[in-house]
Amino acid sequence: MDAVVVDPSRTVLKCVTRLLEARNHQVFPFQDGPEALHYIATHANVDALLTSAELASMSGTEMCQKARRLAGNRRPIYILLMSASHERHNLIEALDGGADDFISKPPNAEELYARLRSAERLGSMQRDLIQMATTDPLTGILNRRAFFEVAEDLCIKSFAQQALPAIMIDIDHFKEVNDIYGHEAGDEAILHVAALTANENAIVGRLGGEEFAMLLPGRSLADAIAVAERLRTQMMALRIDTDQGELSLTCSFGVSEWKPGDTIDLLLRRADIALYVAKSSGRNRVISSTTADAMQSRTATGSVIRGVPRTTGKTTLN
Ligand code: GH3
Ligand code: MG
Ligand code: MG
Repeated sequence: MDAVVVDPSRTVLKCVTRLLEARNHQVFPFQDGPEALHYIATHANVDALLTSAELASMSGTEMCQKARRLAGNRRPIYILLMSASHERHNLIEALDGGADDFISKPPNAEELYARLRSAERLGSMQRDLIQMATTDPLTGILNRRAFFEVAEDLCIKSFAQQALPAIMIDIDHFKEVNDIYGHEAGDEAILHVAALTANENAIVGRLGGEEFAMLLPGRSLADAIAVAERLRTQMMALRIDTDQGELSLTCSFGVSEWKPGDTIDLLLRRADIALYVAKSSGRNRVISSTTADAMQSRTATGSVIRGVPRTTGKTTLN
C-alpha cells in the first residue's frame, strides 16, 4: 500500500516506516497534519493514512475527518488512528470522524500487519465496487451517473472561466441495425463507436442505449465541432463483419458550449437540441447549438427543418 504516516515524533515515524517498508509498503512520513493532508490531496495513489491522535496543529479526530472528506466516496482510503492512550471517548470520536480502526502506539508489528491486510482486502473490494458503479459494462467508458458526476465537477470549474464544450452523439437508425444484423452485432457497433470517442482526449460517457456524450474542458466550440466532424467521418468508415454481412453505420452530433450561468443540464440540453436538429435535417451530420438556434428561428418564421436541403455529411459552423 502507499501509506502516509503522521506523527510529531521522528522516532515513532522512523519506527512505523521501518515496519511498513519491511512488508514492501511505500511510506510518506509527515510530522504534522496540514502537509500530510496536502500530500493526500495531490497524490491519488495514497491508499492508507496512519495518524497519531496527538498532532501539533490539530487533533487526531480532526485529521481523520479532513482526510475522509478529502477522499470523498470515490476514493477508498484506509485511516488508522495510532494512540498512546486508550481513552474510549477519543477513540469513539475518531471512529465517528472517519477513522476505520485504531491501534496503540507504538504499534505492535504483527497487529499492524494484520490490520493492513484487512485494509487491503477492503480497499480492493471498494475499488471493484466503484468500478462497477461508474463504468458502462459493455464499453468500459463512464456510465450515465458517473458522467454526470464528473460533468458537475467540471461545471463548477467552468464558473472559474474554463471553456467547456459538449458533444451529444446518437447512432442513426440503430433500431434498423439491430433488426437487420441482430442485437449482438448492434452491441459490437456500440462498442466500436465508444472506442472511437474514447480515443479523443475528452470525458466520455454512455448516456443510454446508442447515445453518448463528451465534454472537452478547455477547448473552444470550433475545436469541439472539429472533433465531432472527425468522429463522424471515422464512424461512417467503420466496417463490422457480421453473419448477415458487413455492417456500416452513421451517427449524428449536436455540439454546444458553456455559457455563464449554465448548469450541466442546460449545456447538454442545448447539445441535445442541436442533435435533434441534426437528426431532423437528414442525420450523419454535426450541428452546433448556434446553428440549431438559427435554423429553429427560421422554422418559426415559416420554413421547416425537415425540408432544409442538405447534403449528408455537411458540417455547419455557425
Ligand atoms: P434515430 O436515427 O432517430 O436515432 O433512430 P434509432 O433507430 O437509432 O432510434 P431509436 O431510439 O428508435 O432506437 C434505438 C434502438 O437502440 C432501440 C433499441 O433496441 C436499441 N438499443 C438500445 N440499447 C441497446 C444496446 O445496449 N444494444 C443494442 N444492440 N441495441 C440497443
Ligand atoms: Mg439513434
Ligand atoms: Mg437514441
